[in-house]
Amino acid sequence: MRLVKIGEPIWSPEGRLVAKRQIRTSAVRRSAILRRDNYVCTSCGVSAGEPHLDAQNLLARLSVRHLVSLAEGGTDRPENLVTICDRCNLGEVSIPSVNREEVARQIQDLSTQHKTVLLAWMARGERTPSPLDRAWAMFRHLDPDGRKEVVRVLAEAIERLAGEDATT
Ligand SMILES: [Zn+2]
Repeated sequence: MRLVKIGEPIWSPEGRLVAKRQIRTSAVRRSAILRRDNYVCTSCGVSAGEPHLDAQNLLARLSVRHLVSLAEGGTDRPENLVTICDRCNLGEVSIPSVNREEVARQIQDLSTQHKTVLLAWMARGERTPSPLDRAWAMFRHLDPDGRKEVVRVLAEAIERLAGEDATT
């Protein structure tokens, strides 16, 4: 015997279908929002499983949150949904302040290519992830089996390329 909440028609085939469809819709919506936000926290830029910028011993977890909660009249539409990490969600992220010299010193040693990219981000006021960033962030969202498979395929591809270089 299972205790069931009164009023939920989970025993009828119809009821089960409705419940399943709701779960699927929200999972699809969640991954669509994660993809739109390039798999990073829209507040601090951390990606899933990476150490937090201000707390290196804690690994970030991403979730999709309502900007205006449903209780306050918010909707499930994409414009009301946002990817956010656990610390930003709790308002715990506090990035230590830096001074102009520190920033200048950090920039000074960058390659010309990186300086150009950085300047574009500064002009736009946001960091656009490179294809490399995007590939990494997407990889972090794979299940363990998927990750193993992707690592194997990539390692084989690199080995093949190295082999080709050696024979030419
Ligand atoms: Zn964050």
